[in-house]
Amino acid sequence: MKTVWLVIPCYNEKEVLPETSKQLKQIMQDLIKKEKISSESRVAFVNDGSKDTTWNIISQLHEEDPIFVGINLAHNKGHQNALFAGLMTAKEYADAAISLDADLQDDVGAIEEFIDKFNEGKDIVYGVRSARTTDTKFKRGTAHAFYKLMKMMGADTIEDHADYRLMSKRALDALSEYEEVNLFLRGMVPMIGFETDVVYYQRHERFAGESKYPLGKMLSFAVEGITSFSTKPIRMITGLGFFIFSVSIALLIYFLIVWALGYTVTGWTTIVISVWGIGGLQLLALGVIGEYIGKTYLEVKKRPRYKIESILYTK
Ligand code: UDP
Ligand code: MG
Repeated sequence: MKTVWLVIPCYNEKEVLPETSKQLKQIMQDLIKKEKISSESRVAFVNDGSKDTTWNIISQLHEEDPIFVGINLAHNKGHQNALFAGLMTAKEYADAAISLDADLQDDVGAIEEFIDKFNEGKDIVYGVRSARTTDTKFKRGTAHAFYKLMKMMGADTIEDHADYRLMSKRALDALSEYEEVNLFLRGMVPMIGFETDVVYYQRHERFAGESKYPLGKMLSFAVEGITSFSTKPIRMITGLGFFIFSVSIALLIYFLIVWALGYTVTGWTTIVISVWGIGGLQLLALGVIGEYIGKTYLEVKKRPRYKIESILYTK
């Protein structure tokens, strides 16, 4: 029987942890009883430098039942890094790991299906939302636009899949070879390959507490996703620059002809439009280029993605 770890990044999740841990323990115990996973399977909470009592709750849980594992990060490193830290720890002990959020938005009822597919021999199983009814219209719209944009930019992401997925040890080993500091796991994992499958689930409302992904963070996550996987935006800017340059040459010829024919050009509008238009485009272009330079700067420093302060694990 295979050992499976659940990996749950937690940042200020004191409101949800008691309920989440109860539900996950129940599910894991059932699966152990059904002999679908080994009794060495664990529920691992990664504390991502929480400012509330999250770590105390995790330590308490571990003390009461060794099925709970606690991984304490030294700093708040963000969801992706915390998840990565958890997965890299899990692969030392488990045959597979399932990542999910602490707030019970990812339907825990689907865990069994993930494990069934793993037992059938799949290396990566993606959780895909079958409906987005619990999201606001705005979030649905922006998410859809984001996936479209990612596809257009040539990145291979799975639509409506967040970070609810199962990965085998083999897949996690492959993931550990990706050395980028800026993590965008849902873009990286599809690059690994292996045999994959999909599990459909309903996304619920957050059980309690507030989203740790406000609009600003979500936007920067989206920019991260696009710029990490494609240099197409730079190519597009080159194309746009070439187009504008051609237009200005055409205009120049046109103005020369008008001048030669003896008409005086009064075109105030043309000037104003060009100044603003080209100014705006230049700023946009600089912004995109800056984004890549900034990213390169962060990557070459090769700073560690996370630092584990302590691990609570009992065999
Ligand atoms: N999270 C984290 N570090 C952070 C922000 C979030 O570990 O800096 C965790 C959080 O505790 C949760 C998961 O990432 O388990 C997803 O966050 P959240 O539910 O707030 O995002 P949303 O579902 O609103 O996109
Ligand atoms: Mg959530």
